[in-house]
Amino acid sequence: MTTFESLGLTEPVLKALNAEGYTVPTPIQAKAVPHVLAGRDLFGCAQTGTGKTAAFALPLIERMMANPRERENRRCRVLVLAPTRELAGQIHESFRVYGRHAHLKSAVIYGGVGQRPQEVAMSKGVDVLVATPGRLLDLVQQKFVDLRTVEFLVLDEADRMLDMGFIHDVRRIVGMLPRERQTLFFSATLPSEVRQLADSMLRNPLEVKTTPQSTPAETVAQAVFFLPQRQKRHLLVHLLSNEGMARVIVFTRTKHGADKLQRDLDKAGIRAAAIHGNKSQNARERALAAFKSQHPPVLIATDIAARGIDVDNVSHVVNFELPHEPETYVHRIGRTGRAGMTGKAVSLCDHEERPRLQAIERLLRKSIPVRNDLPELPHVEPGSEPRESHRGGARSGQGRGPQGGPPRGRGGRTSGRRSPGGQQPRQGSQPSRRPRSEATQAEGRPAAAATAPAPASRLPKKHRRAL
Ligand code: AMP
Repeated sequence: MTTFESLGLTEPVLKALNAEGYTVPTPIQAKAVPHVLAGRDLFGCAQTGTGKTAAFALPLIERMMANPRERENRRCRVLVLAPTRELAGQIHESFRVYGRHAHLKSAVIYGGVGQRPQEVAMSKGVDVLVATPGRLLDLVQQKFVDLRTVEFLVLDEADRMLDMGFIHDVRRIVGMLPRERQTLFFSATLPSEVRQLADSMLRNPLEVKTTPQSTPAETVAQAVFFLPQRQKRHLLVHLLSNEGMARVIVFTRTKHGADKLQRDLDKAGIRAAAIHGNKSQNARERALAAFKSQHPPVLIATDIAARGIDVDNVSHVVNFELPHEPETYVHRIGRTGRAGMTGKAVSLCDHEERPRLQAIERLLRKSIPVRNDLPELPHVEPGSEPRESHRGGARSGQGRGPQGGPPRGRGGRTSGRRSPGGQQPRQGSQPSRRPRSEATQAEGRPAAAATAPAPASRLPKKHRRAL
């Protein structure tokens, strides 16, 4: 059996892993660590949840220990580029945890917060710098950071960098680095632009692929409810109250939708915290800390904010709305069922979202089981609850069952599987179209000065779960 020791890791790192309770390397760690230790470039096709952070952090810590070097003002040895503040923060934390006996100094740089503490952190130099591209460039231009001595570059979630429009910044940063360096490149998906970027940065890399592209963890049990958009919040309250959802992330498509849902849950006495691009860094950190605590609030998140959230023990993912891009569904449900645990993903699908569900099922190459146990929900008049996530306003009651219940059955190739009632839904309703990148644009690059949020976590009211 492969052990961390057999991969070539030494005592200070092994001690830290032991303290974290890691006993067996994940497949990407087993494949990547020996080669990175040997100095080879790496091209990793891996999603979050596969242990990829340790796959690059552990051997880089070793490489630095094996070849100690004086720190120089404003400089670093390892540069990790990550697309979001959350991911950057988590990678930084991982280096801190894995390197706690290695006497390394690290810093993290991202936008949306004051830059002064970041200037101070870099003034005497660090071993490891984790950064988002925009703020890093700002600090380089102001001469608070000097990248000329970088020995190791990690580019994490390259596909997301591309989605978020950071690729130009990334290229500029790479152009400032010494050519003589070791580069580790990670991406969950491999669009051709990502391939090109990798080709331009890597030298004879080892290619490591983990879970086949876009295949969600097998440990996640998936299900879908059919019901009108306007009834979803009632079903959500029911599920949160009755399904033992210990640590749950609810995904909404828009920031506005996340805030509204937080208010709705609050009214129902369910403690919830929302994270999205309009929240200040402090509010996001508070929400994440609460979510990691023993009594987590329900975390309501947009896709970009949730990207890279590294929390173990997420018991459930709820798709309050289905994403436009099927790959996003795979990322979402990958938040649960991590590190060998089981997890559940429940999707709430209204009539207009069915083409999206079909696209997801095509990508997964399997059907998502339909849950037929929709409870009695309060009647909500069509149109009384304006649809916020679709342009064109509410569509009333197409194909729904009694009490405003779910649309019945489903058309197309999945028509064999029915929700109660068994009628076919009405045909001809198309989802509103929007550009592929809209979700990205909606979240966009973090604003330099984020607006002050509502308190991220609320005290419980009368919710019956022990929150
Ligand atoms: P990542 O894919 O880097 O986001 O890691 C996913 C999660 O798995 C993180 O919470 C890590 O703490 C955890 N993890 C990484 N490697 C191992 C391991 N070998 N054994 C147990 N947990 C791990």
